[in-house]
Amino acid sequence: KLRIGVLALQGAFSEHIHLLNKLKADVAEAIQIRTKEQLQDPSLDALILPGGESTTMALVAERSGIMEPLREWVKAGKPVWGTCAGMILLSNTAHRTKKGGQTLIGGLDVTVKRNAFGAQVDSFVADLSVPVLPDNERPFSGVFIRAPIIESIDPEKVSVVARVNKGIGEEEYVVAVRQGNILATAFHPELTDDDRFHRYYIDLVRTIASTTPA
Ligand code: GLN
Repeated sequence: KLRIGVLALQGAFSEHIHLLNKLKADVAEAIQIRTKEQLQDPSLDALILPGGESTTMALVAERSGIMEPLREWVKAGKPVWGTCAGMILLSNTAHRTKKGGQTLIGGLDVTVKRNAFGAQVDSFVADLSVPVLPDNERPFSGVFIRAPIIESIDPEKVSVVARVNKGIGEEEYVVAVRQGNILATAFHPELTDDDRFHRYYIDLVRTIASTTPA
């Protein structure tokens, strides 16, 4: 069974913890991570970076001295999943809509655009077709809250996990990707009671653990 940490500096971390706690068959413990020491505990199997506000989250992370340890986690090839703001932090490049610095963890060879769906539709729910999920004939309900989109990817390194189509004839946007140990979703699976994304991540964590030399 796995010990999964959720970065708990800001944002929707308790929702992830709540959902993970329901997956008792696979999850031994879901832990709030606030310090470098907690992150560096060798018994921690995987990490989730929640949604929230990426600029604030990065600021708090820098102040609490956990930014560099987070970068080391990603570089070491350990499993990490970022949702929404968490996805922004994992990206190598983020286009911002407001002025001001944006410190990133990085690691994911993508460019994201924050708040991409603009002022007219800040939040929406869309049915997504996600082939990698268990029971994938059933659409996954994607909850988008001031969500980013993935504008461009390095196709040699990054694979697309899901796209959203916002209405007939409109453009499709990439909203979930995977690159090695990194999973990123622009939407919030922790705000639904559909646990398939979390179960997919758990499978991924096991696959990564079995292919990474100890
Ligand atoms: N708009 C937020 C940001 O730019 C992300 C929103 C979210 O995590 N729900 O950081």
